[in-house]
Amino acid sequence: VLLLDAGTGIRRLLTSPSLMDGVASVDVLLSHFHLDHVVGLSYLPGLPAGVECTVWGPGSALYGTATSELLERLIGPPLFALTLLETVSEIAELPMGELDIGPLRLQLRAQEKHTHPSVAMRVGDELTYCTDTGYDPGNAPFATGSRHLLHEAFWLDDAQDHTHSTAEEAAIVARDAGVDDLTLVHLNPRLGEEAQFCATARRLFARAQVGRDLDAVISTHDI
Ligand SMILES: [Zn+2]
Ligand SMILES: [Zn+2]
Repeated sequence: VLLLDAGTGIRRLLTSPSLMDGVASVDVLLSHFHLDHVVGLSYLPGLPAGVECTVWGPGSALYGTATSELLERLIGPPLFALTLLETVSEIAELPMGELDIGPLRLQLRAQEKHTHPSVAMRVGDELTYCTDTGYDPGNAPFATGSRHLLHEAFWLDDAQDHTHSTAEEAAIVARDAGVDDLTLVHLNPRLGEEAQFCATARRLFARAQVGRDLDAVISTHDI
């Protein structure tokens, strides 16, 4: 199992245990260290016994500080009952560029438009994930050749700051990359209905949808 970020959605691995059937290892890739992307690490001790869990973070690559040092600020007494290495099996540095995990070829790209730098991730030719970034024109060439784009849409069509993207900008990245499908993630819950985000994106890119937990977004016919 490969997890892109560690938000509260990780609880699904515990509350829908069939997701872990036959799984021997979990690799978690962190886009950055904001709390909404790391707080779910605290669920990992609830995974079935014997599952190896490796957390990859861009601490050294983007911040010049070891990922383990950054995560120990959150995971460990007195904020958490367990130490970091009691919570996960291993902490690894996420490099920019290429990384192979099992059969998966990953590509990682630094995004400089957020309040702190973050990482765009590409998994083979199946999926590109761009979150916690203002509109970044470098993400369209990065995603070109991917079938599916997961892109944040914190704003609708009027960015109140440029550390996050609008649904319109997510659609521009999808259109310029030529992906088949766009799923909007990381919506601002204080702004409108999901349908508005969807309609805004569809003005520029018809095959847009809003992501929900447990959605299956990738065709598996030839993986
Ligand atoms: Zn975030
Ligand atoms: Zn963030």
